[in-house]
Amino acid sequence: MNNLTLEQYIQAKMVDCDPEIAALIHKEDEREANVIELIASENFPSEAVKMAAASSFVAKYSEGYPAKDRLSGNKGRYYGGCVVVDELEELCCNRWRQVFNTDYHVNVQPHSGSSANLAAYMSVLKAGDKILAMDLNNGGHLTHGSAANFSGKLFDMAFYDVGADGFIDYEDVERKAREFKPNLILAGASAYSRVIDFERFAAIAKEVGAYFMVDMAHIAGLIAGGVHPSPFGLADIITTTTHKTLRGTRGGLIFAKPELAKKVDSAVFPCCQGGPLQHIIAAKAITAAEALRPEYKEYAKNVIINTKAMCDEFIRLGYEIVTGGTDNHLFLIDFSKTHPHLTGKMVQEELDKNGITLNKNCVPNEQRKPMEASGVRVGTAAMTTKGYKAEDFVKVAQRIDEIIRNIKPEA
Ligand code: PLP
Repeated sequence: MNNLTLEQYIQAKMVDCDPEIAALIHKEDEREANVIELIASENFPSEAVKMAAASSFVAKYSEGYPAKDRLSGNKGRYYGGCVVVDELEELCCNRWRQVFNTDYHVNVQPHSGSSANLAAYMSVLKAGDKILAMDLNNGGHLTHGSAANFSGKLFDMAFYDVGADGFIDYEDVERKAREFKPNLILAGASAYSRVIDFERFAAIAKEVGAYFMVDMAHIAGLIAGGVHPSPFGLADIITTTTHKTLRGTRGGLIFAKPELAKKVDSAVFPCCQGGPLQHIIAAKAITAAEALRPEYKEYAKNVIINTKAMCDEFIRLGYEIVTGGTDNHLFLIDFSKTHPHLTGKMVQEELDKNGITLNKNCVPNEQRKPMEASGVRVGTAAMTTKGYKAEDFVKVAQRIDEIIRNIKPEA
């Protein structure tokens, strides 16, 4: 691979064996190189992470767990030839504990954030049990109880609201927890721009005797970088993806208080998954090592600075921001009052044509269908990785405003 980037190396290898796919990979490389990427759940992983995801581990079967895990009492693997992957998985687990400075048990096998959430629920709940969460329209995720998702089909759901100001209404959480008596209370979101008060949630869960789970998929990189309060020590179970602010490949992780280790491990395998993806576990281990480097703290700090700068510019330009600002890597623009002729879909599509990628998003009290939506979600982690500074984000906000002002009502 002398002096070749990973992309060039793959191109060189792939062109001979499958030129069609090689051409598509090349197209995607170019798209990623040229786009202004503002999707809050995406990022650009390092070459090392991508190489690990394409390594010899791609084909290794390893159902089960490394035998040595002291907390879960796991008995080992169901396949031979696992000496190397055992070492890999143990290393990966240890690194993630270091990242979050925790003695929680960690399971690095979930294939995605959704699989992590399914396994987390199955570890302490049975079908029909009650969950109190934030619903999709207010910023929650599909796996937080949407009727279209396994979570809404398997469990009895209730949802807490955000107030008219867009902030989580903790009194509503408290009231609903007392009335509904959930078995599990879930904090965490896909589209919420403010610090979540984990202590308040933990106290409410304790009062009603519910498990307290945090889905930190969006903010995990900020927690790892020390710029967002941590749920460790407060939540019983914590899930995350590894590909958003954390900047790894697509994947999931589950952390749990030591006494839940066995339940979590058996919920992942054999309850919800078969063999783990060891190539992705290798990539997750590299992601963790990167998160432990001093420059990662700088990245996390810059994400916060950049998001505030961009959000402030939109406010200056006359846009309405849900909650009036941001504490993390994202914010939501609500067009319903300032630009009632616009839908989130129209803005997303027009920006796409101009090389800027983000996604339409429902806003609190949404009157449109999710496929239309009245807002967009803007995230800065990916472009911070690409080296954008606050002043670059301000310019991008101005460019977005220019594009939006040119959208014809009938478009
Ligand atoms: N949890 C949250 C809060 C998310 O935002 C997402 C994805 O956007 C997920 C879980 C699911 O992750 P995945 O797409 O890896 O299944």
